[in-house]
This record gives sequence, structure tokens and C-alpha cells, in this order.
Amino acid sequence: MKRALTDLALFGGPEAFLRPLMVGMPTVGDRARFLARLEWALDNDWLTNGGPLTTELEGRIADLAGVRYCVATCNATAALQLVLRASGVTGRVIMPSLTFAATPHAAAWVGLEPVFCDVDPVTGCLDPARVAELITPDTGAVLGVHLWGRTAPVIELEKLAAEHGVKLFFDAAHAFGCTAGDRPVGGFGDAEVFSLHATKTVMAFEGGAVTTDDGELAERLVALRNFGVDRTGSVTSVGMNAKMSEASAAMGLTSLDAFEGTRARNRENHALYASELRDVPGTEVLAFDEHERNNHQYLILRTDRAVTGLHRDRLRRLLEAEKVFPRLYFSPPCHLMPAYRTDPPLRLEHTERLSEQVLALPTGPSVSSEDIRRVCSIIRLAAERGEQIEAMWAQAVPA
Ligand SMILES: *Cc1c(COP(=O)(O)O)cnc(C)c1O
Repeated sequence: MKRALTDLALFGGPEAFLRPLMVGMPTVGDRARFLARLEWALDNDWLTNGGPLTTELEGRIADLAGVRYCVATCNATAALQLVLRASGVTGRVIMPSLTFAATPHAAAWVGLEPVFCDVDPVTGCLDPARVAELITPDTGAVLGVHLWGRTAPVIELEKLAAEHGVKLFFDAAHAFGCTAGDRPVGGFGDAEVFSLHATKTVMAFEGGAVTTDDGELAERLVALRNFGVDRTGSVTSVGMNAKMSEASAAMGLTSLDAFEGTRARNRENHALYASELRDVPGTEVLAFDEHERNNHQYLILRTDRAVTGLHRDRLRRLLEAEKVFPRLYFSPPCHLMPAYRTDPPLRLEHTERLSEQVLALPTGPSVSSEDIRRVCSIIRLAAERGEQIEAMWAQAVPA
């Protein structure tokens, strides 16, 4: 397969890029500062269990999200589980399928049933009308996702949840530092969950954070993440170990220091991708809502095979041959993964179409404008010669 691609020699061969370009390269920030924080933790023999670095990180995230409480965890998946547990949710949880597997996994791991709902055909976020149709007496919660940093329809979902007396949470793994209108993500629904995984825009190697204005919920979360030990030292709930370490907090603080710089670079990158690809038929760089602040963490290219003649997966292979590694955020959608697939399979029209068309492209502070121009020139060539490439591919790679 490699050889066949090289033989196509459309784009100057695999040596065209000096280094691989990946999605989600880590935004470390000032390495010396990170190491100084780490030294400080070591000097003070305080490595985990709600240390000063974790507390500082929680304070800064709560400020940014405009909420009273932030509870940091070892990752977002555990945070989602804790939130669902601590809120006493039972039964079914309505959520999008166009998300990372962690969203349904978190619900399933605490004994809840994920119910997949179709999304808005443009934003990829939950469609409130579809959510309303799925609410039954068994529904315990709605779990929205701010896909690609674009906020879910928070106001409509809050209204629906209140009307039906169900809890509302958001998986905000993509939406650190984003807003809906001028309200920051972090304060919507009963609680929101951020991920600080190494690939996210603010990262702590591994890490998660719950934000909420509900003081009782925050207190239950603090106990649940630490074996169920409450404020008095008594084990009053069946907890788990989901604490953030001070090494992670040191990384999180340092990455957070760099966040506005990261956002600015991502924003420039987005503008450059959009202008380079503006006149390439059948491709579209997903725009951001001008009324929101985005972190521009994800650069989403939508391709229309009916126009380019080129399959999305073929474009991905061509880019990979040039050492550009796009990611499929998200394909397949969760409801078609073997873990969740039903027989006959559920059909979610807009979810499936988006899932077949999108490709996340490399961005972040380490991606230069030169890099972007070259990525775009590959996409341009591929899109312009889509049918020709498909025909050559069919010959070179027998089905
Ligand atoms: C990254 C991600 C998660 C999982 O976060 P972890 O911190 O790795 O557990 C959950 N949901 C979405 C949408 C994500 O992108």
C-alpha cells in the first residue's frame, strides 16, 4: 500500500515533510516553570491528596469557568462517573453518539444506560428537539457534549431538563476556555467536566476537572474521588480513587499559564486553513460561531465526496503518506462501535453523515503557517483529482 502511494508521486513523495504533523500535540508551556513547580512539590514532600498545586489549579479553573467549585480528578472519564454517581442518577442517560467512547463508557460503568440521540447537522451537538422525543420516565439525565469546542444548545437543554425534572451535565472535554454567548463553559447544567489529557488544549499529562455551583455536589465529589472519605475523616460513601497528583497539577498550571497564547495561535491557524481552502470545492473548514469564544483546539475539515469524488478515508491515507496524521473525531460514532452496536443498528442520520465527512487536522502552537500551507496544498490537489485518485487506488490496491 505504501509503495502504491509513493508511485502515485502526486505530492513530492513521503519526504515532503521533515517531521510528522499530528493532532493534539502537547501544549507544555514554559518547561522551566513546570520543573520548578515539580521541584517545589518534591522539596515539600507533598505529591498528591489535594496538595497546594491541585488546589491552585482548581481555583484557577473555577475562576475561568465562573463557578464556585472545581474538583480536579485523575482524568475526565472518572470525573464523569463520579458526577453521575454523586448526583444519584438512575436509569437512562441521553447523550450524543458523535463523541469519544469515554462519554457512554462513563455512564455504562456506573450502571446507567446510554441512549444515543441525533445531533444538529452543522454543529454536531445534541438537537434539543430529538432529546425531547427521547425523554421517558426512565430518563435520569441528559449528558451533552460541546463538540469541537462549540457549545451544545445549553439554554434549550437547561429548559428541557427543568421541565422534565432530569439532571443535565456536559462533557466539556473539548471546550476549555470556551463560551456560549458571553457565559463561560463550566457553569451550565448541574455540572460540567473538562479533560486535561495530554492531547487537550490545557493538559496535565492526565487529568480532569468538574465545575459546578452546587456546593453539596462538590462536597460529595471530593469524598468520592478519595475513597468516600468525608470532611470529618469518616468513610460515608462507596468512593473510588480518582485524585489528581501534584505532578499533574504542576503540568496543568504550566499549560494553563500558556493557554491564551495557545488559543491565539490556534485562532491564527484556523484562519489560515480557512483561507487556504476557501476555494477548494467539496471541502469546508468548520467555522466557529462569532458570538462565542472558542479555544480553536480542533481544526475540523468537512469533505463532501459527492463533490470531490474522493473518499474521506482515502484523503486521510494520502495525508498520512506525507506524514500528516489527521484524526477521526469521531468515526465510527459510538452507536456503531461493537461495544454499543445493536441489531438491527440504530440509525442516526446527521450523526452518521458528519461522522463520514469529518477529519481533524493538525493545529496548535507547534504547527507553523508553512506546515499549514503544505497540508492545504495536499488537500487541494487531492480534492481536485479525487476521481483520478480513486481510479488509481482501485487498481493499485485490490479490494
Ligand atoms: C478526551 C475526551 C474524554 C476523556 O477524557 P480523559 O481525561 O482522557 O478521560 C471524554 N470526552 C471527550 C469528548 C473527549 O474528547
